[in-house]
Amino acid sequence: MNGNDVQSQLKEAGIDILKCMQCGMCTGSCSSGRHTSLNVRKLVKRAIKSRDVLEDNELWMCTTCYNCQERCPRRIDIVDAILKIRSIAAHEGIMLPEHRQVIKLFLQYGHAVPIDEVNIKKREELGLEKLPETVHKYSEALDELKTLLEVCKLAEITDQHT
Ligand code: SF4
Ligand code: SF4
Repeated sequence: MNGNDVQSQLKEAGIDILKCMQCGMCTGSCSSGRHTSLNVRKLVKRAIKSRDVLEDNELWMCTTCYNCQERCPRRIDIVDAILKIRSIAAHEGIMLPEHRQVIKLFLQYGHAVPIDEVNIKKREELGLEKLPETVHKYSEALDELKTLLEVCKLAEITDQHT
């Protein structure tokens, strides 16, 4: 795959980043960019130019707040583009170690942050049920979730390139 393929996959999804005029409105509106190295204008530029964008750590720094997308004068679906590029990257097994860890927990427990003894104790102190109304409490729902995740081949994607 080359950069044009990333761009053409975006185009197929109805997202035209070629309309970008590099005005920087997105970067100026970016809440994450104030605290991280994310520069969304440059990210869009890299997505137009090269498949290297798939390896870009900044790809994962967006919080999907949608500020940039709401303000883009060219009405580019910037966040949708970021999510799509993330998806392409993940399907190629390109993700951060932290993602793999979170996905493993999700596959096993149905939660990215499963409940632990400390939180069970806190719940009991507050007079709450030991387990929340989630897959933690309903094992049959966890089985259903696992079936869905199997269909999505999430485990296979996660195990790529490890
Ligand atoms: S606001 Fe829109 S047109 Fe301007 S740089 Fe960002 S993506 Fe490009
Ligand atoms: S959606 Fe992402 S890139 Fe856009 S402003 Fe929010 S954090 Fe920044």
